[in-house]
Amino acid sequence: MIKPKEETKTKTKHILQSKNKENHQLIQTYKRRHSLQEHKHLTTAHKAKTNNKTPEHGKSGIYTLSCNTCHRSYIGQTSRSLKQRFQERTRNIKHNEPLSACTLHILNNKHEHGSIKDTMTLLKHIETPSLLIPYEQLYIKSYHHNDQLIPEQQ
Ligand SMILES: [Zn+2]
Repeated sequence: MIKPKEETKTKTKHILQSKNKENHQLIQTYKRRHSLQEHKHLTTAHKAKTNNKTPEHGKSGIYTLSCNTCHRSYIGQTSRSLKQRFQERTRNIKHNEPLSACTLHILNNKHEHGSIKDTMTLLKHIETPSLLIPYEQLYIKSYHHNDQLIPEQQ
């Protein structure tokens, strides 16, 4: 009487395994869709901000700086204004101080950095300092996913 019992056990186990597989596939599909939507959302938000006439360079938050030579982006965060951060970077490049991935990229590759108007864009205005790092990570992930980052930040 041991055999039939074992058989039932195996059958149940098999059903459970295929159920798990099904669930796993569902989760994967959901994750893929979710991350695509998230990316689409971030890209749309970026475009909307660019067309906006508000003085974005006077705000703090998450920004992107694009390289004038290879057109790849650097994602950064600052609790000061974007303008202050840009001026700091200009000083760093002038004095040959590669203090961030961005200045490292410009200095090492001898790429050209453009004006604040042409290359710096506010991605998200943030006033709560504790939110700066999490949002920066989110944007880095999104830009990396789309292969838009400078190699120094990957
Ligand atoms: Zn470059």
